[in-house]
Amino acid sequence: MRQFSSKNRVYLDHNATTKARLSAIKGLKKALKHWGNPSSVHQNANKAKNLLWTARQNLSQFLNCHPLEIIFTSGASESNNQAIKSPFQNLRKTKQRNELIISSVEHPSVLYTADFLSQQGFKVHKIPVSKQGFLDEDFFEKCLSEKTLLVSIMSANNETGVIFPIEKWVKKVRSAGALFHSDMVQVLGKKKLNLKELDIDLASFSAHKCYSLQGCGILYCKKGLELNNLIHGGPQERQRRAGTENLTGITAFGEVAKEGDFIIKKNHQLKTLRDNMEKQLLSQLKKVEVIGGQAPRIDNTSCLCISNVPGETLLINLDLKGISISVGSACGSGKMESSSVLTAMGWTQKEALSSIRISLGIETTKEQINYFQKTLVESVNRLRNLE
Ligand code: PLP
Repeated sequence: MRQFSSKNRVYLDHNATTKARLSAIKGLKKALKHWGNPSSVHQNANKAKNLLWTARQNLSQFLNCHPLEIIFTSGASESNNQAIKSPFQNLRKTKQRNELIISSVEHPSVLYTADFLSQQGFKVHKIPVSKQGFLDEDFFEKCLSEKTLLVSIMSANNETGVIFPIEKWVKKVRSAGALFHSDMVQVLGKKKLNLKELDIDLASFSAHKCYSLQGCGILYCKKGLELNNLIHGGPQERQRRAGTENLTGITAFGEVAKEGDFIIKKNHQLKTLRDNMEKQLLSQLKKVEVIGGQAPRIDNTSCLCISNVPGETLLINLDLKGISISVGSACGSGKMESSSVLTAMGWTQKEALSSIRISLGIETTKEQINYFQKTLVESVNRLRNLE
């Protein structure tokens, strides 16, 4: 029996958060050494200001955009809120455009922001997504009109890993005169990004999903686009986001960005590991489906619906055996609630409650996946026999 300590646990929940790389820790230490407030005017401040600028440059190179198109935030939830609320606050200037289009499988920070706008009287269209993760393009085309102010569609889904072909839609949306925002959290470090070429208006990123620290994110805002503040106060981030900068988080993120291409390469190598794992599990277990398996996916994610086994029970069983995975469901008011992403895709409540998400990381090994596979098969067989 394999012995577990917190050191050798098998961590397969990288879409939730990732372990900071050494480069992030180096960045963090640099920022702790030069701890001045970048807004002050003495020499301590200059060092901090330089760190901030270097990180901005590193990240802009990684994303292929101008350094001043980057606004540092507390994370992608904040970035999503600002990106989506801001155009609607500017409404007097946009005259008759007052509609928002999102997909029905967005992260809660997009879904609830859209609900907030809907409560304010704006029209929100939610584009349906099929059981296998494909967005209903006809519905999208019908919703897109001269009334559309903003379209917000994620680049890849955090639960299924399904990639949306936003490149194609950015062009359509821009030719309809609307703005395009994408929550790009789950593609950072998994796919080469070129924001300039993509010609997108707004995009959100989170440092801790890409081997850096929690509490730091980016809102990309295309040059020339007017942006309203979410947080009012000082003139930081060229008056677009008030508050003393999170220098440690930003410097760490900038250092990780320098290794961006290496991280992307390592993430691509996970495809073989993930695909083999799915193949083996499908051959060893009955009534298992790969959600989104027929759609293009990021290489590290696998979402499995395992009939007649509650995902939550499986998660606890695996946790006791030293394996960390996740389920989309959540416990609300004493009752299990299924993942809104999976039910929006047409999976039943029961199916959604029997689903688990496995997300590999760049340090995941074949040995870890073999152990996970073996433990999962044993746990599923045991739980099914208890029925
Ligand atoms: N968007 C997506 C797709 C995510 O997966 C997450 C995190 O789970 C977020 C946004 C929120 O990111 P943050 O934790 O930086 O607020």
